Amino acid sequence: MSFASRPGAGAGSPASTSVLVVEDEPAIATAVARRLSAEGWQVETVGDGLQAVDAAARLSPDVVVLDVMLPGIDGLEVCRRIQADRPVPVLMLTARDDETDMLIGLGVGADDYMTKPFSMRELVARVKALLRRQQRAALAAELAAGAPEAEPPVAVGDVVIDRAQRRVHRAGEEVHLTPTEFDLLLALAASPRTVLTRERLLAEVWDWVDASGTRTVDSHVKALRRKLGADLIRTVHGVGYALEPAGASAGGGPA
Ligand code: CA
Repeated sequence: MSFASRPGAGAGSPASTSVLVVEDEPAIATAVARRLSAEGWQVETVGDGLQAVDAAARLSPDVVVLDVMLPGIDGLEVCRRIQADRPVPVLMLTARDDETDMLIGLGVGADDYMTKPFSMRELVARVKALLRRQQRAALAAELAAGAPEAEPPVAVGDVVIDRAQRRVHRAGEEVHLTPTEFDLLLALAASPRTVLTRERLLAEVWDWVDASGTRTVDSHVKALRRKLGADLIRTVHGVGYALEPAGASAGGGPA
């Protein structure tokens, strides 16, 4: 693999980018496939859960767009099975906002969620954001493998974030995060005790500038709290979130 000379360019040319679309409603599947193909991506569409698992194994797609309600096995199970095989960014299509919250609560492991109906422009923007993040993560992993000392672990209170290995420990216990949850935690940890707006987090973690996506931030904060402890991230209502190092509220370092 060669490094791109410009950030965000080069890695994964459109023609080599493959997107798997899993959707059982023919009208939506056709419209989505047509729009994504217009970006120059290789698009394959399947309408059933078991076919989706097979197609993911066969194609090794760069991104999966996955409807929740499917014949055969549902989108949750499809997501689990394809992620168990190989980590791949998943954009889940849901019917309602509360369904998104429910899925986050279950820790399904999707990277982003979009509620139907959605605009094709929004869909393309989110798929592009997932592709960019995946390329950045691949590049970071490659750099870290060459020079692990270049990215020392970040410690905030009792949370230790190993950027090179993309692993997280709290109080010595390893906590397994999805790639999106990891990036969100890292963004919060870059400025502990500082309130970061949902819009800023959306832009930093999701490469998103549209405020309509801030529910995605809320949902993933919920997932981080469930995995790392409810005390770690403080909500500032109407503004955003702040990471609060445990045991540091009295103004001191470790006891
Ligand atoms: Ca469906």
